[in-house]
Amino acid sequence: MVRTPLIAANWKMHKNVAEAGTFIGLFSPAVAGLDGVEIVLCPPFTALATVGRGLLGTSLALGAQNMYKEEQGAFTGEVSPGMLRDLGVKYVILGHSERRAIFGEDDALIQAKVQSAYRHGLTSILCVGETLAEREAGQTEAVVVRQLEAATAGLSPDQAASLVVAYEPVWAIGTGRNASAADASAVCTVIRAQIRSRFGPAADSLRIQYGGSVKPENVSEFQKQPDIDGALVGGASLDPAGFAALVRAAAGANR
Ligand code: PEP
Repeated sequence: MVRTPLIAANWKMHKNVAEAGTFIGLFSPAVAGLDGVEIVLCPPFTALATVGRGLLGTSLALGAQNMYKEEQGAFTGEVSPGMLRDLGVKYVILGHSERRAIFGEDDALIQAKVQSAYRHGLTSILCVGETLAEREAGQTEAVVVRQLEAATAGLSPDQAASLVVAYEPVWAIGTGRNASAADASAVCTVIRAQIRSRFGPAADSLRIQYGGSVKPENVSEFQKQPDIDGALVGGASLDPAGFAALVRAAAGANR
């Protein structure tokens, strides 16, 4: 099964509208015509419209960093899946560890968001990963499997097949301390096996990214692993030339 690697940029709470426009003007030509990887840009909500316009006519896709599970209503400060679709959003990051840790999102809410994303035609990039304490206590697999089982409960095999899972060890996010390719690969293999045990052959289509201090210099090590299909990139996605180099390295490492 050939899976196209997905390299997703998570800008977090960075870049205003002008900065986002400048990024697209530099990044988009730098990766034009590049084959073998799919690229998704996930700006803050306030820059989605600008980035979406900048991506028209390119093969790059637009993603959001979060959404609420409901379509509309009295949910002050929230953004709905329909509103994202309206702006041309295709992917949505759900369950990022910053959402879990800072904003108190639990497995039940993340599951409801994944279901809602499917109902509205959005593809979830579902983040799972252990903290340093959990890793040191030997709980990595148990934590990742629990998060995965909870968030994917109730999916059909077809939905599971189109899901993107990002394995992001919390201790590797924004720290400059990436997981080794071997450790990341071992967990991604557990993730695929877990999906296979519940959804059968859908596991062959599902894409699994590694995320956590991915850079142009290390992305190819991850990309060479059989169960890793791309990367979710925070800090190293903010500079257009650096992110273009990262994407090119990932494409070059394609199995
Ligand atoms: C992330 O926020 O999803 C992430 C992986 O960040 P960084 O690449 O900066 O570690």
